[in-house]
Amino acid sequence: MKTYSGGCLCGEIRYEVTADPGPSRICWCRDCQRIASNGTANVVFPSAALKVTGTTGQHEKTADSGNTVTRRFCPKCGTQLFSDSTGRQGLTVVRLGTLDDPSSIKPTATIWSASAPSWACIDGALEVFKGPPPSVPHKK
Ligand SMILES: [Zn+2]
Ligand SMILES: [Zn+2]
Repeated sequence: MKTYSGGCLCGEIRYEVTADPGPSRICWCRDCQRIASNGTANVVFPSAALKVTGTTGQHEKTADSGNTVTRRFCPKCGTQLFSDSTGRQGLTVVRLGTLDDPSSIKPTATIWSASAPSWACIDGALEVFKGPPPSVPHKK
């Protein structure tokens, strides 16, 4: 197992995670576009393996799936760092761009491509899903 480290723009929030990374995907859902102005690049880790220094702010929203998604960010500089979902207990999404070495984990799929804007750069070499990935339960 490798240790990954990262943090926000201003340095107030730092984190370390020692675990094998789970799925890594680029998400073009409308919520991600609002927080990132683009798609978000993410990786899933076991929540228990994530050690955070500093106090994050958080925002809860009901996703299209019906799950409650809690996004955590730095209250000083606004950097989005983590996301937890009631549909994904025990797992935390980490924003790839906040890693100290963002090349250390590579996305393997694009999700929610149907809501991507016309100018989105979607890598044809990755698996593309129009909606959520098959492993995410999608309740209506
Ligand atoms: Zn910050
Ligand atoms: Zn998204």
